[in-house]
Amino acid sequence: MFLLVKNADLYAPEALGRRDLLAAGGKILAIAPHIDADCLPGEVEVLDAGGRILAPGFIDAHVHVAGGGGEGGFSTRTPELAVSDCFRAGVTTVVGTLGTDGVARGMENLVAKTYGLREEGLSAWCYTGSYRVPSRTLTGDAMKDLMMVEPIIGVGEVAVSDHRSSQPSLQELARLASEARVGGMLSGKAGIVNFHLGDAPAAFTPLEELVRSGELPRSQFLPTHCNRSPAVFEAALRWAREGGLVDFTTSTIKRFIDEGEVTVGAALRRLREAGVPFERVTCTSDGQGSLPRFNEAGEFAGLGVGSPASLWEALRASVLAEGIPLAEALKPATSSPAAILKLRGKGRLALGADADFVLLEPGDFRISSVAAGGRLALREGRLLMKGRFEA
Ligand code: ZN
Repeated sequence: MFLLVKNADLYAPEALGRRDLLAAGGKILAIAPHIDADCLPGEVEVLDAGGRILAPGFIDAHVHVAGGGGEGGFSTRTPELAVSDCFRAGVTTVVGTLGTDGVARGMENLVAKTYGLREEGLSAWCYTGSYRVPSRTLTGDAMKDLMMVEPIIGVGEVAVSDHRSSQPSLQELARLASEARVGGMLSGKAGIVNFHLGDAPAAFTPLEELVRSGELPRSQFLPTHCNRSPAVFEAALRWAREGGLVDFTTSTIKRFIDEGEVTVGAALRRLREAGVPFERVTCTSDGQGSLPRFNEAGEFAGLGVGSPASLWEALRASVLAEGIPLAEALKPATSSPAAILKLRGKGRLALGADADFVLLEPGDFRISSVAAGGRLALREGRLLMKGRFEA
């Protein structure tokens, strides 16, 4: 069965203009100005894009896929990710992570959930470890996890500069980072350490000190929540200018923005003005992490969870409100995480790449259709693929 997208305005993520795209067996077979369905040897499903934007499926590389939260007691542990929340949001690839709780939640469950998401049509990988150091791993050894467990691509999220971190020493962090690095080298994986940055003004100090030791490259670390406060953002800007990678969190609430959280659009604009290439920038939803809800009187009204939908919402806002060109705004959710995390076949629309794509409306960039692994998961707003237990 072939899937043929006709008359698309293709962003690979760089703008390529009007193109047709042909997929089969989960891969992109051809991209050309005109592909004739009648010439294909077999059944063809045709999707006429009608001039809509065709972009790579989004990569959400920091999601608590097996649930997170729990910081207000056992009843505040958040539920698992549902694949339909990803497909509706244009997300076709996720990287799962544990979180604060590395005791009641463990790697067996995270790896099992990662496999389950794959069975449901999503591309999925995960990090090993949690906030804590020494890390809670699957095999008892972070390097062994990376080398011997295919879906594990790095270590994280490890908390630093936060009252919830295990207050690891620099030596402990250096050892963990080197295990990730060598495990990555030996297995051909990224071996990235995904650091959760807390509110502490000196959030980047442990990372800077690790780099200063001279033995670990800056590119080994992917700090997340870099937009959580003006002070953390300014430090992130300095880190990025020096060649460091940065990740911005898209799921938020109005109160966090009112209290000083830097919007993803503003963060991207500042980076661009500073000449930081978006190849070093990723955006992630922190999906299924818990978020407080407040009523109109500003009173605490319960808990919600972060959503993968926030990823594209934040990036399209960066185009609409901050004037970031679409081809640039796509990078932190497509080609950049694919390259940084070595997710082969992901993040680009190119010959031989995985057939993961989104169709966006011209003008407001809303998501219209989504394909994951060459199968339509969302067709003109109608959900076609969902999880086993989803109604
Ligand atoms: Zn975090």
